[in-house]
Amino acid sequence: MSAALIVGNWKMNLLAEEATLLAAQLVQRCATLKNSSVWIAPTLLSIPQVSAVVKGSKLLLGAQNIHWEKQGAFTGEVSAQMLQEFGVSFALIGHSERRHVFGESNELCAKRLGACLHSEITAIFCVGESLAQREGGATNSTLEAQLGAAIDSFADAQLSKLIIAYEPVWAIGTGKVAGALEINQAHGHIKSFWENRSKKSAPPILYGGSVNPENLKSILELPLVSGVLVGGASLSFDKFAKMIEIAEALA
Ligand code: PEP
Repeated sequence: MSAALIVGNWKMNLLAEEATLLAAQLVQRCATLKNSSVWIAPTLLSIPQVSAVVKGSKLLLGAQNIHWEKQGAFTGEVSAQMLQEFGVSFALIGHSERRHVFGESNELCAKRLGACLHSEITAIFCVGESLAQREGGATNSTLEAQLGAAIDSFADAQLSKLIIAYEPVWAIGTGKVAGALEINQAHGHIKSFWENRSKKSAPPILYGGSVNPENLKSILELPLVSGVLVGGASLSFDKFAKMIEIAEALA
């Protein structure tokens, strides 16, 4: 496989001092990276301090969400320009917690994607089915609706700097990792749906959902997996460093 991407989503965890310390440990760990890339998404409030720590290192800094307008009356939101001021180079969009806890629709997530496509920020566009959707045989149609809203909102030429993360909702933060068959089928479906709908070849696809040092190797060995999006295990330096070591050894 080609170099794996390991992305840590710190969610609403770590005070600025803790985030800065973890980032500093990772900067040191990643200084000698050869075969993998490591990206981290701290809380918005930690971004300025973490940005100073990762500057000039191999670690890339990201945001957990982004608004489509440059500025204006959008309480609680931040724009691509504001994030770029602090060295942010990627953003998560449509994370399942945004979709399911905060009610972000497919259309709203597609608008957020526009903020990335029209700026220098790389999008990690998250998709995935709930347990009820999987059990009801609606996995593929859910992925199609999430992806279709995004693809149809932009011209093919605009669909660059984009990564997809397949994150089944039932696997996020639950300790239940999707099996090889489920991951293969979902990634395969995302790829073929994309390539039927867009003239651009399908973007790299990450897997996310209870990834940890014990299951990482078998996930990264799957042919359609370009890397992983990690929540809980990315908050521990020891666990995340172990995952980086595994990715480095595999590539
Ligand atoms: C996530 O937040 O995207 C995620 C996959 O979380 P966890 O690894 O904790 O399941």
